[in-house]
Amino acid sequence: MMSTTTVQTLKNFIGGQWVESTSGKTDEVPNPATGETLAYVPISNREDLARAVEVAKAAFKTWGKTPVPRRARILFKYQQLLVEHWEELARLVTLENGKSYEEAYGEVQRGIECVEFAAGAPSLMMGKQLPDIATNIESGMYRYPVGVVGGITPFNFPMMVPCWMFPLAVACGNTFVLKPSERTPMLANRLADLFKEAGLPDGVLNIVHGAYDVVNGLLEHPDVKTISFVGSQPVAEYVYKTAANHGKRVQALAGAKNHSIVMPDADLDLAVKQIITAAYGSAGERCMAASVVVTVGEVAEPFMEKLVQAANAIKIGNGLDDGVFLGPVIRDSHKAKTENYIEIGEKEGAKLVRDGRKDAEANGQGYFIGPTIFDHVTTDMTIWKEEIFAPVLSIVRVQSLDEAIELTNQSPFANGACIYTQNGSNVRKFREEIDAGMLGVNLGVPAPMAFFPFSGWKNSFYGDLHANGTDGVEFYTRKKMVTTRW
Ligand code: NAD
Repeated sequence: MMSTTTVQTLKNFIGGQWVESTSGKTDEVPNPATGETLAYVPISNREDLARAVEVAKAAFKTWGKTPVPRRARILFKYQQLLVEHWEELARLVTLENGKSYEEAYGEVQRGIECVEFAAGAPSLMMGKQLPDIATNIESGMYRYPVGVVGGITPFNFPMMVPCWMFPLAVACGNTFVLKPSERTPMLANRLADLFKEAGLPDGVLNIVHGAYDVVNGLLEHPDVKTISFVGSQPVAEYVYKTAANHGKRVQALAGAKNHSIVMPDADLDLAVKQIITAAYGSAGERCMAASVVVTVGEVAEPFMEKLVQAANAIKIGNGLDDGVFLGPVIRDSHKAKTENYIEIGEKEGAKLVRDGRKDAEANGQGYFIGPTIFDHVTTDMTIWKEEIFAPVLSIVRVQSLDEAIELTNQSPFANGACIYTQNGSNVRKFREEIDAGMLGVNLGVPAPMAFFPFSGWKNSFYGDLHANGTDGVEFYTRKKMVTTRW
């Protein structure tokens, strides 16, 4: 254990300065792989937040009018700096989140791609004209920023999810107040440091660490015009309703329960490889994680055999160690919650085929839980209904593609869904009939890249315009229509 005297308390980033929270309250940030304290995060209060919003509002006056190519140039410089610091950022993601270094490295890439997309601001911000809507009358649409944007992010992607928000919002001319997850707050500060180094003017990006008080402050503050949220379903729904009640534009990306359908004609080695990565990568703490597999017909037995074999071969451990695939879950409380789900699964009659509580690492230091597999899961079971957000995979057996689609569509969540098959007509039927927004065919994590919308449906998303892509540009801008007679 590190001694607490050597562990730093993080600061907020307001007006380009690192400032202490005035609340005097902090939370510990442990390394989930070891339990060792990495830092203390301030649990800021509404005064801290109000100060950041005031600064962001003042900065908007000049930043919103800064020529778009000049704004874009800062994003180009930021991209260079992020690339230069790639390894350092990936290491920090692994330290505070626990995911393997390889996955953290990939996450940093996803974040950098968002900055690359945002650097296209001059094209993205363009309007439209029609020179002759009537004789001698023309109409033009001009795009403008919205004002101060509030961003609230989850623990599972400390780099990628904040990068879904602030680079594009800022490129579009808005100023930003970010409330990172209090469970993974460290990376956000490096992102701010590097943006400042890239030449971002003071006050354009601000960070206020904390929990509910800061979130509620953002949702209710009259000078915050727009809210981007990513997190669990109940909080997303609350954020959406509360912010909308306060007259704000909101996008709230929520929880998930993603189904993967395995057809009898699937390439089983490919399907197992993809499903293992999608179910257990990032310890199952991914909104696009495969958490339910639906086997169709006779594929169930050979699939299960290969799946268990592959799960047994997974290397569990500290994400910074070579060859480790499965790191810890985020906190000991989350580990306990997952173990409770496993008990409930057994009690409700699912067959526990592989018990991650029995892996050696699950009984040592850190918040580890091994790959867990339940077979013969049914839709009345808690483990099918709820998002567990851990390395626990449920297998449901059905007899036809129709049945698989009907079952998948019963879930109130609808982020992603995948199919494994060699048959084009299966793919077409799946695409047309599945009620989910991000579909994968013969691949496990169909997360769209930065230039496409991250398009969850049903209870996996509250709002209209999704994060990323042109949806993101629409979300972070408002339009003026000018009709002119000369
Ligand atoms: P969370 O909902 O616990 O926290 C998200 C944010 O909301 C944090 O910043 C937290 O401080 C704040 N928060 C939490 N409870 C709050 C409350 N009662 N009132 C106000 N603010 C509150 O989520 P998490 O555990 O950090 O992240 C995991 C969840 O996020 C999973 O459900 C996952 O599916 C979801 N997620 C969704 C997407 C997506 O694109 N749909 C992406 C990543 C994560």
